[in-house]
Amino acid sequence: MEEIRKIRTVCRSCHGGCGVIAHVKNGKAIKVEGDPDSPISHGTMCSKGLAITQLAYHPDRVLHPMKKTGKGWERISWDEALDTVAEKFKQVKDQFGAEAIVIGQGTGRDFESHFSRFGNLLGTPNMITAGHMCYLSRIGATLTTCGRHPAIDYENNPRCIVMWACNPLWTNPDEYKGASFWRAYQNGAKLIVIDPRKSFLTKKADLWLQLRPGTDAALAMGLHHV
Ligand code: SF4
Repeated sequence: MEEIRKIRTVCRSCHGGCGVIAHVKNGKAIKVEGDPDSPISHGTMCSKGLAITQLAYHPDRVLHPMKKTGKGWERISWDEALDTVAEKFKQVKDQFGAEAIVIGQGTGRDFESHFSRFGNLLGTPNMITAGHMCYLSRIGATLTTCGRHPAIDYENNPRCIVMWACNPLWTNPDEYKGASFWRAYQNGAKLIVIDPRKSFLTKKADLWLQLRPGTDAALAMGLHHV
């Protein structure tokens, strides 16, 4: 029986790129854990990353092209799948023109250039990504309101942290799992939590401002003496 090998790799279940050590036995990843030497994640992983073997080996995972027929889903070959898709593209292009086609992708996992090139060859400029709905709106809003995209500096021992309607230990953007916040908090930062909901963080807060929902703007104006 093969020994368990530990392979250093990277999680790509989000943009984060947390360092991972995969435990592999008989060619199968049986467990993953955070890589303590990762300069990005310092040994931490989120629950999604830790559950990745469930995704990889789930019995319902679609591993082959499938076609919906009158009798349900049936497995087809890659050649048939590609021919079917190409034919559909051709039909729309011939009838309405290439610009009638909008192509969309999920969050980028290093295939954006292929995606753009595909649209370019197809002849449509109509491409949409998750970034158009998520990242661009975030950047647009922060540029408009703050003049730049603010980054939180937890690494330089902040003396006070304000958590306004967020709980980074529960929900957070890529890679950021609240670990750096937690280190800063444990290093003595005062914590102000602005949130109508009672949570783990409100219990830790030095000051909990329990706003009525919808009154955040009034508080912000008040803080700025507007
Ligand atoms: S935050 Fe989670 S999903 Fe994202 S790279 Fe890290 S472990 Fe993977």
